[in-house]
Amino acid sequence: MAFDYDLFVIGAGSGGVRAARVAAGHGAKVAVAEEYRVGGTCVIRGCVPKKLLVYGSHFAEDLSDARRFGWMVPDCDFDWKVLRDNVLAEVARIESVYEDTLGNNKVEIITERAGVTGPQEIHLAGGRTVTARIILIATGATPDVPDVPGAEHGITSNEVFHLERLPKRAVICGGGYIANEFAGIFHELGVEVTQVIRSDKLLRGWEPALSDRLLAIATQKGVQFRFNTMPQRIDKRADGTIVLHCAGGKTIETDLLLWAVGRLPNSEGLGLEALGLHMKPNGAIPVDEASHTDLPWLHSVGDVTDRLQLTPIAIREGHALADTLFGGNPWVVDHALVPSAVFSHPPLASVGMTERQARDTLGTVKIFTTDFRPMKAVLAGRNERSLYKLVVDASTDVVVGAHMIGPDAPEILQALAIAVKAGLTKAQIDQTVALHPTMSEELVLMR
Ligand code: FAD
Repeated sequence: MAFDYDLFVIGAGSGGVRAARVAAGHGAKVAVAEEYRVGGTCVIRGCVPKKLLVYGSHFAEDLSDARRFGWMVPDCDFDWKVLRDNVLAEVARIESVYEDTLGNNKVEIITERAGVTGPQEIHLAGGRTVTARIILIATGATPDVPDVPGAEHGITSNEVFHLERLPKRAVICGGGYIANEFAGIFHELGVEVTQVIRSDKLLRGWEPALSDRLLAIATQKGVQFRFNTMPQRIDKRADGTIVLHCAGGKTIETDLLLWAVGRLPNSEGLGLEALGLHMKPNGAIPVDEASHTDLPWLHSVGDVTDRLQLTPIAIREGHALADTLFGGNPWVVDHALVPSAVFSHPPLASVGMTERQARDTLGTVKIFTTDFRPMKAVLAGRNERSLYKLVVDASTDVVVGAHMIGPDAPEILQALAIAVKAGLTKAQIDQTVALHPTMSEELVLMR
């Protein structure tokens, strides 16, 4: 049977773009359908604009610290629209680079929503139906919004990059990485931030020593936290004030409500159930380690499969699939020991097991910590201590986890993650001479 395409990708995000480009490079005839903007969540409304806002907001601290280093910095005004528009322009620039890359590789970009209407058959919102030997679902995830009356008065990370003006007060519902990142951004930009968290913990799943330290520093900076709290109803007054009604008659008033309570696999309306595919309860598409579904012509990568919702994972999954199906080079992505970060103020970064996980799975573990005030913070008069923690398998001396909070922790941890992934022992790390004076020298000096 002749098909219109060898590969049809639904979703031009991190995973879909990589799979499309690599498959086309292997000689396949490829099209990708995108209902919003080429680049997907990471480029358009995730990692990239978020990180640029983190940089932008950090100037508040840098400008204040600069005075202690002799710079006569006058009181500075901040113009949100300048930062916002420059960030959005950079996003548009990267989007066009993605489009050019796809075009140069002869991938057809179809700017329409797509669904699957039959085996190897795709229906486009514009009315066309096309066929493909292989269909790849790479539709990502969408922000979860709780089912409470008045939830529509809040926004999500989809809208937050486009705010017309900065609010005076913001409530951020959620305790995960996106919530903590935006709490830091808004707070640094002068917004009064309250974080409302359903449980009694920040950053569930992270090393508690790190999340406790973030809580202490953020509280000291002035971020307010309401734990064990969840709005049951939300109203909006005529003057624009948003009122969160919580259990026990408590209310919280704010000018902006940001929902950051999780992300759900984006599989609704694709038509997959009708084809006999059984989705996971949260909507994730079940796949094996090679990103194959139960249907031989259907594959899926990235957030919609809900393995690890990270850009580099989606990219690798897309690349591996394209090499496997079209390049005669089968390989699968190793999902173990993947480093990740929270770009809060200060940031966190982790790879491998927490102390608890190591004790549960390995039995005897050795823990090494260093808790210090970075040199720069001391001179700046900034009372923020960094914390690094190494988790070591006591029976083999192998470092099985590394966790850091402090300035540039994600930059430092990326390099350390190589050592952890390579299975180095604590003794091997200790053999490396310190690079002085740095913060990261602490990593080779922990005894
Ligand atoms: P996506 O990049 O989401 O792409 C899916 C695409 O499919 C979208 O463009 C969507 O419009 C399109 N689509 C959906 N349905 C259809 C349809 N039916 N037809 C046509 N098109 C469709 N990850 C990190 O690694 N580091 C970070 O610092 C980081 N920060 C983040 C910050 C925020 C605020 C958010 C929201 C996410 C962040 N992430 C981060 C996660 C990262 O963005 C995702 O893991 C990554 O984008 C997943 O890639 P994907 O290809 O699976 O899906």
